[in-house]
Amino acid sequence: MKNFSKKLSLQWRLTLVITLLVSVTCILMYFFISRSAVTGMENLENYIVQVDETGSEPITFHVDPAVLFPDLSDQVQSTKDLFRIRSIIATGIIILLSSIGTYFISRHALSPLHELSTKIEKIQAQNLSESLEIPESNDAISHLTASFNEMLSRLDDAFTAQKQFSASAAHELRTPLAVMQTNLEVFARKKEPSTEEYREIFSMVQEQTGRLSHLAEVLLDMTGIQTVERSETISLAELTEEVFCDLASVAEQKQIELIQRDGDCTVTGSYLLLYRAVYNLVENAIKYNHSSGKVTVNIHPGKAVLAAASQPHPADCAFVEISDTGIGIPPEYQEKIFAPFFRVDKSRSRAMGGAGLGLALVTEIARQHGGQVKVLESNAKGSTIALMLPIK
Ligand code: ADP
Repeated sequence: MKNFSKKLSLQWRLTLVITLLVSVTCILMYFFISRSAVTGMENLENYIVQVDETGSEPITFHVDPAVLFPDLSDQVQSTKDLFRIRSIIATGIIILLSSIGTYFISRHALSPLHELSTKIEKIQAQNLSESLEIPESNDAISHLTASFNEMLSRLDDAFTAQKQFSASAAHELRTPLAVMQTNLEVFARKKEPSTEEYREIFSMVQEQTGRLSHLAEVLLDMTGIQTVERSETISLAELTEEVFCDLASVAEQKQIELIQRDGDCTVTGSYLLLYRAVYNLVENAIKYNHSSGKVTVNIHPGKAVLAAASQPHPADCAFVEISDTGIGIPPEYQEKIFAPFFRVDKSRSRAMGGAGLGLALVTEIARQHGGQVKVLESNAKGSTIALMLPIK
């Protein structure tokens, strides 16, 4: 029965439900009205009341109607039968007319919905940016169309970002491949390459394949973020200690001092992902620092309006602030650096093995945890970037 009703169109379902309601109402009405009418007639048959209006007291006579009116019983019976038949016919006609009426009225009422679904069917990946015309009526359909348009615009943004990401990824993959191809072609033309030339070509291939595998690794990381479990209780101070430990040799090479201020916050999430986020931020603070500089991490609770939150009120957050004494980020790039493949100085970043995906990965990890990452301040003396994570 359930499956059968699911197969029916909304118009037929509405018609059936209303017909059922009308039928139940009519049958109940028929039952009560005919019962009271028939009982009334039976009482009439039994009692005939005559009142002598001239006297001061009304006089009531109880008379056997069969004696006074011998045909009365037959007449009452035939009136009762006629009443029943007419009631049944009237009930049937009312049910039939209301069903037909409901069928046509619901068709008319649902026609804007049909129009909307016809328009939606025409939407393809290519015309996601074309929003639907919102009907002037201020009803459920116009609200539905407006919500649909909003969803379409979000999808369009996501789709465009995805396309841009794929194009940039393809470009990044093509560059090392092109470098290898050109160098190998030149090398192949050499009749008797020297040991030095062999060494050069070998190190070039090693460097470019290293870049390719790093890129593939980050791309894989980015696609796997959504499926990672995020229910661990994490001490951000302990996590930072581990990051410092793992980056100690890199910092040492550049003679950078790593400082962790006192303070801790506990959050719920994925240790693996948050480790990766803090690692990338500290690694950048080392990479884009002057030699003999400093990287300071300060963990403290605070309030922040998070983009992921549905309410524009400040939420309780854990702040992981990473400050460096590095080259700084120009104001016009302070938001852009979080976009995939964006680098302020492409050649410099590339030379340091960067693909421009580190901060995009941090942004995605923060978003998956309901938080966000942003540049708090930056100038020629250095930058402070904060990872803000909601404390539940
Ligand atoms: P990359 O792999 O190039 O480091 P990221 O996504 O990690 O990519 O960073 C994007 C760009 O943001 C970098 O190329 C760099 O120009 C800039 N950047 C990131 N962190 C810092 C920082 N702490 N100081 C200065 N510039 C930074």
